[in-house]
Amino acid sequence: MTITVRSYAQDAWVEPAEAGSVADSAYRLLDPSTGAQVGTIPELPLDTAAMVRHAREVGGPALRAMTFHERARLLEQLGEHLMANVATLHEAYGTVGATKADAQVDVEGGIQTMQFYAGLGQRKLPDTPFHVEGDPVRLGKHTRGQVIHTPRHGVAVLIGAYNFPVWGFLEKLGPTILAGLPVIIKPAPQTGHIAEVAVALMVESGLLPDGVVQLVSGGPRDVLDHLGGQDVIAFTGSSRTAAFLRAHPAVVQRGALLTCETDSLNVSVLGPDVPADHPLFEAFIKRVRAEMTSKTGQKCTAIRRILVPTERVPDVVAALKVSLAKVVVGDPSTEGVTMGPLVSREQADSVRETVRRLATECDVAIGGADVLPELASGNPESGAFFAPTVLVAREGARAVHDSEPFGPVSTVVAYTDMTDAARLATLGEGSLVASLVTNSPEAVATFVNEAGSFHGRVLVLDDVNAVTAAPHGAVLPQSIHGGPGRAGGGEELGGVRGVLHLMQATSLTGSAQMLADYTQVWNKDAAPIETGVHPFRRSLSELRIGETLFTESRTVTKEDVEHFAAFTGDTFYAHMDDEAAAASPIFGARVAHGYLILAFAAGLFVDPAPGPVLANFGLEKLRFRTPLYFGDSMHMRLTVKSKAERPGTEWGEVSWDCEVRNQKDEVVATYTLLTINALT
Ligand code: NAP
Repeated sequence: MTITVRSYAQDAWVEPAEAGSVADSAYRLLDPSTGAQVGTIPELPLDTAAMVRHAREVGGPALRAMTFHERARLLEQLGEHLMANVATLHEAYGTVGATKADAQVDVEGGIQTMQFYAGLGQRKLPDTPFHVEGDPVRLGKHTRGQVIHTPRHGVAVLIGAYNFPVWGFLEKLGPTILAGLPVIIKPAPQTGHIAEVAVALMVESGLLPDGVVQLVSGGPRDVLDHLGGQDVIAFTGSSRTAAFLRAHPAVVQRGALLTCETDSLNVSVLGPDVPADHPLFEAFIKRVRAEMTSKTGQKCTAIRRILVPTERVPDVVAALKVSLAKVVVGDPSTEGVTMGPLVSREQADSVRETVRRLATECDVAIGGADVLPELASGNPESGAFFAPTVLVAREGARAVHDSEPFGPVSTVVAYTDMTDAARLATLGEGSLVASLVTNSPEAVATFVNEAGSFHGRVLVLDDVNAVTAAPHGAVLPQSIHGGPGRAGGGEELGGVRGVLHLMQATSLTGSAQMLADYTQVWNKDAAPIETGVHPFRRSLSELRIGETLFTESRTVTKEDVEHFAAFTGDTFYAHMDDEAAAASPIFGARVAHGYLILAFAAGLFVDPAPGPVLANFGLEKLRFRTPLYFGDSMHMRLTVKSKAERPGTEWGEVSWDCEVRNQKDEVVATYTLLTINALT
């Protein structure tokens, strides 16, 4: 069966009029294990201007009408549908030379990343279409400023590299959909048929609103010509292509937001404290081998430079020789094969050429440009196999710090001390990830202080986590993915920041009340609302933002404080010792416990009978501002600051702005109380 890869434009599949009728110019998909042609990507006539319009005019409004929670639920359901169909995606992977484990990193890894964003959208973002950042700031007597993030009115074009046809767009899709942006996916041709299968699964799920997802397979590259200041280009690929995109008029003239994830000469550093017979040394070797051979080294996060104390170089080379000898190279459809070919013969030629260039300044210790690996299966002539290769840099070698052999190749570089290791790491001029294998906090401090800013992520492995920590190359959605300089200067993932990065931050300036009414987050300068009914008697749907209870006041006595001290065991001098409290530079006399003030506050505002308030689940931002002395009185204000339903349940969360004051109206304590309330 040969594959004909389709595009998806304006909610319809675009394919050749007759199956098999493709022009000679069509991109030929070859199985890199055998060299056999398995399909084509035809040059299809796509109206990219209409696609961009469709995304902006149909997909964008649909997403902007949804709240973060609704967009998150869409991602969740899409993820569930993809997960239920992983077998189809693995089947599509059958002809690109990837092992099952390689495919899992991409397929399951991509779905899990999207699912992470589905969860995050429901837990960490509000049930509104926009995001409110922090509290308003004072900008004059009657004016306040509040930063909000709103969805752009554009489209995100997701351009992917060949090595991650599924993860590559799903890791971008999660944050972009949450940010309210429709997408046009542009996968790399070598593996574009796998991306097409993933898009087809999403389309057939029936979950996608019109215009939210479109796909450009092969064909015209002019989609960028139609982009402008509300659009996003999220690129992953080589620094060469990134340089072209940075100079594109859509970016330099019309101001489209461009993020680039590009090449990276990642380092892994063996600490100076790790001898060859230490378990950490073994963990280091295993991790280097895993990064060299996973996806046949075609990972932007793979370890390209192995930094090792000078005296440890022979041990490291010897251990890698033994470890890499266990790698079984061949057609991954053969049982027992642990590393497949590169994606294409062109890619193998490119790696060969880079290794030859490196070899002018390095000694080849294992493998090499002209060594064909022993094959368990596959065609050595027409396949794209490459032997795992380790080089050892001679003193002063330079190419190792600026050439990326995008295959199973890594170079050992000797260092004298940690300052030297950090200096060598920075010669890569920006990397996605560095790992440091050491038990020495001093070594970590030197490296991070001197080379941290050259990396998007630094992984430290010591005796505690060397076995269990996620691999050096694993991109976790909780952590930042991206790096400065050569790595592209991008910043993806990293939880909520990956979403907000794609939205427009606006300083909204106005009166306190106007800000509260728009954002639906009450602030201290907005008017409190008194309904005459205790707010604990009102359900989540009845409660209004700003609804307030002003309590009675009560006096705090010496007996109260002594009773509380005896009852709880908290006999801190400031509450119990006259002399020491008098000498205190802060109190000058005995004062009430902060926790006693909180407990009395609850006694003042709680309405005890069962009702819509189901539970108290915490306090945030607690500050004690003025001490309460014996005989002082306290009263409080309790105001609904914000509220949110919990999806799929009959309740929601209310946050209450709380302020305790004394008889002089001085602020004693401020905090946010969190409760769970019934919806109705
Ligand atoms: P590439 O040649 O730069 O291609 C990447 C993507 O850009 C492809 O979809 C390609 O499609 C597209 N492209 C190229 N020229 C374009 C243009 N003028 N306009 C619009 N799109 C254009 O990279 P690759 O060979 O696929 O991937 C390998 C590289 O990606 C390595 O250097 C690797 O380090 C890097 N990478 C980085 C990351 C990361 O997250 N930092 C992840 C994976 C890979 P066409 O070929 O159809 O033009």
